[in-house]
Amino acid sequence: MRRRMGINAAWVVVALLLLVALNYIASDEGGEKISYSELKAKIEAGQVQKVTVGESNIVAEPTQAARDAGAPEAWTATPVDDPKLIELLEEKGIEYDGSTSSNWGWMLGFILPFGLLIVFWLFMLRRMNPTQSVMTFGKSQARLQAEGDTGVTFDDVAGVDESEEELQEVVGYLKKPEKFVRLGAKIPKGILLVGPPGTGKTLLARAMAGEAGVPFFNLSGSEFVEMFVGVGAARVRDLFAQAKEKAPCIIFVDELDALAKARGLGGPVGGHDEREQTLNQLLVEMDGFDPRVGVIIMAATNRPELLDPALLRPGRFDRHVLVDRPDKNGRHEILKVHAKDIKLAADVDLEVVAQRTPGFVGADLANLLNEAALLAARRGGDDVTLKDIDRATDRIVAGLEKKNRLINEDEKRIVAFHEAGHALVAHCVDHADPVHKISIIPRGIGALGYTQQLPTEDRYLLTRAELLDRVAVLLGGRVAEEIIFGEISTGAQNDLSRVTDIARRMVMEYGMSDALGPITYENRQQTMLGLRQTITGEQDQHSEETLEQIDREVRRIVDEARDRVRELLTRERESLEAVARRLLEKEVIEADELREIVEECRAPEGRKVKESVGQ
Ligand code: ADP
Ligand code: MG
Ligand code: ZN
Repeated sequence: MRRRMGINAAWVVVALLLLVALNYIASDEGGEKISYSELKAKIEAGQVQKVTVGESNIVAEPTQAARDAGAPEAWTATPVDDPKLIELLEEKGIEYDGSTSSNWGWMLGFILPFGLLIVFWLFMLRRMNPTQSVMTFGKSQARLQAEGDTGVTFDDVAGVDESEEELQEVVGYLKKPEKFVRLGAKIPKGILLVGPPGTGKTLLARAMAGEAGVPFFNLSGSEFVEMFVGVGAARVRDLFAQAKEKAPCIIFVDELDALAKARGLGGPVGGHDEREQTLNQLLVEMDGFDPRVGVIIMAATNRPELLDPALLRPGRFDRHVLVDRPDKNGRHEILKVHAKDIKLAADVDLEVVAQRTPGFVGADLANLLNEAALLAARRGGDDVTLKDIDRATDRIVAGLEKKNRLINEDEKRIVAFHEAGHALVAHCVDHADPVHKISIIPRGIGALGYTQQLPTEDRYLLTRAELLDRVAVLLGGRVAEEIIFGEISTGAQNDLSRVTDIARRMVMEYGMSDALGPITYENRQQTMLGLRQTITGEQDQHSEETLEQIDREVRRIVDEARDRVRELLTRERESLEAVARRLLEKEVIEADELREIVEECRAPEGRKVKESVGQ
């Protein structure tokens, strides 16, 4: 391929040289070079019958008489800015004309830069893409890997057991598609792996191919985008054609967000036609093929919110698998996987390492062990000691803190008590949804921890007591911080805005305030999308006095709830500390464990999962 590319470039160069040569020939053509004054003299003497004035030369055709007297085919001279020439020609009645096309030098001025540009472009293309020639660049670049070639199995992926389980079913299908087809089982077409960078999404996809022993087509979204118009779409088409031939197999589109950003969200530069065409082709192909042929399309992204919603519709990437940051146990498992090839000293306990690396993802952990090994090698040690690992940890932590992905120990303590506060209140009040899971593993941007509750059922009506309990749970985080640290952090901001929202609605929409009575002060309207929006300013509709009263009522509800929560948490302080301590130790607490730690107030069981409290 490389050779052929070279030949192409060579041809362009040869063609250019030819042009240059032609230009020399052309400029000399038939002309005897004379000076301008000589030319003028010959015109005056009546030896010239026709003159062609070009930009860089003047060609004069001798009369028949002059030619008979031994004049050449033509005389050429370099033009001089001489308006008199035309007068002279008119006077002598000699035919004259201007010329551009015969002027090769002028044309070359155009062609040469273009030619050079093309050569440069070809050169860059080759640099960018050594495997590809210009002639074949519509062909898909998918690297086909034969059976078992990924060399990765689920054993190489640790700490993401839930995601693994979800994918196991698909592996079963890829191994024996006929069985599934015969039974009429529905198989997902598109699976989207979602999770922060470095958590092992690419690794999982490769492991799936390895487990199922099927070919694995791996492309990245950015690879599609970098090429030229029309080619991305052609590549997609080609890819699906190839995949159908090799079925059962997996097509994996890494960094899907690069390709499939929601339309209108465009990047910094204009002209996203190419990306859109490629995306559309992908959608067309996905819609057009029958999953029973045994091609599974997988994709990975760490920015699911950027994706074009069209991609997530049923029949496309409708199955989402979350690949989340590992908890302590997960990190321990991952460390074990990567420690296999590393000679560890006897003093190294990987569980301790896992304990010390909150917020690390799989890639960070692999990097950590590698750094430690390098440090050990540099100091000439026989094996990797705990000290090497500690030094490497410090280094990586510093890097990650800069990237804002890690929180320090103090912050972690605050978050632990904050979440313990939410959880304990939810656990102890009568009407709150029971706690399902508490975590202090940072999630996305902003959320430092979360408490998950399970609603009993979908609710359309809420009583006043239920709303008040909801407010109490939301306040639990902040109040716990107050009790334990005597001061409050900014971490409760989201909680507080939700508290205010609920309290305001209780007063203004649901008529749940005694002071104001069962009157709605609602000035929100239902929009077409079912969203609630404030249409007019509140000030316009209610009197100053009413507004003050509303504010007072909202404040009263919140204050009373806060007193109640403060009392509850002070009473349960021991439990609060126990929960926080366990959180700091394990990072995640499940429902059963919470019930074990907190004996007094037990919450009802057997409910559906719904995420409810962020932060
Ligand atoms: P992602 O695609 O989610 O950004 P990768 O799959 O590219 O992450 O992970 C990069 C590397 O980090 C992997 O090759 C592997 O060495 C290591 N790694 C990441 N997650 C895990 C994991 N869960 N188990 C084992 N190794 C992991
Ligand atoms: Mg990746
Ligand atoms: Zn909170």
